Amino acid sequence: MTKWFRQIPFSADHGHEWSERWEYRPNGITERSFEILVKAGKPLDVLSLKGCDLDEVRNYADFLEKTAKKIYGSSLDAPQLRGCPICGGNLDNAAIELTVFAVSYMRCSLCGHVCIPAHPAQEVLDDLFTASESHSYVYIDRRTLETRMTQIVLPKLEWCREIFRRRSGHMPESIVDVGAGGGHFLAGALRCGLKIEGFEFSGTSRSFAREAFGVHLREDDFLTASCGPADMVTYWGLLEYVLRPRDFIAAARRRLTPKGMLVIEVPRVDSLGTLVQAMDCAVVARHMDPTTHVNGFTDESICTMLVEEGFAPVAAWYFGMDAYEVCVQIALRGGDVGLFATLADFIPVVQRALDRGRQCDDIIIAAVPMENS
Ligand SMILES: [Zn+2]
Repeated sequence: MTKWFRQIPFSADHGHEWSERWEYRPNGITERSFEILVKAGKPLDVLSLKGCDLDEVRNYADFLEKTAKKIYGSSLDAPQLRGCPICGGNLDNAAIELTVFAVSYMRCSLCGHVCIPAHPAQEVLDDLFTASESHSYVYIDRRTLETRMTQIVLPKLEWCREIFRRRSGHMPESIVDVGAGGGHFLAGALRCGLKIEGFEFSGTSRSFAREAFGVHLREDDFLTASCGPADMVTYWGLLEYVLRPRDFIAAARRRLTPKGMLVIEVPRVDSLGTLVQAMDCAVVARHMDPTTHVNGFTDESICTMLVEEGFAPVAAWYFGMDAYEVCVQIALRGGDVGLFATLADFIPVVQRALDRGRQCDDIIIAAVPMENS
């Protein structure tokens, strides 16, 4: 049974930004309610970022399928997760949400969170991630560097700073980014004059950050590392990778200044992108990829995790790559890259509708420490 409810103004249907009230009712009565500033849609020239090379998509999906066999095929005796990593709900009789590369994602009946119960050791995932340049290739591609900065990184940074400013009356002065990838976000933060600190396991990504931006990332574990308090802690596409996402929320709580803000971006499982990838013959090369993404979040699972670790959600931004995903799958099905070119005009239009209707495969949520927790 759901614990979260929201009141939505009718104007949300035609707006880009609006306010909502989200209510937490763990025992049937409203325990807490939150004013959330909601934004939908993000302009993105998908083609200039990724184009569409059908062979590249197929080859990468093949690589992921082989990797999935390595991770899960040899770990049939691996420990099975018994409880939901977000709310602790029993997964013994959980329903299968989708199966990718013969690996099943299960749905928690309490918070809707989707996860892979067959868990390889965290070290297996860490080793694969650390060793594989292929996992980092999207994020350290120099050809798309400036496009990625101007279309993805800077708009996200501006959104974070503006939310922070509205709440505290001034811009943030320091930031810690965990799972910093090629250092793009911290490079953007540097341009804005913030004091930065970043953590990244991948040696390839750390080298890229150093060479491309002069940003030095730490390779130690944020959960146990010592670092000074920061106005913002950010997890861009990190929590879907980790077996215990709540540990990271708790760690952020310890690292933030009293007026600080946590920002997380995660894939949304209740989206068109997920449904398309659950179809027979889907070619999965992103989003619900079990080699790295062991978690698929719902709005409810994100908020449950935040509130139970002492955070109040304050803003949410809905957007995604679902329309792009559908066009790629159609082109792959037809074996004709021309199909993608024909359909590409529809991508921003369809995506806009999906973002406003919350059928999109990505979300960013900002949250602040609750004073009485
Ligand atoms: Zn759950």
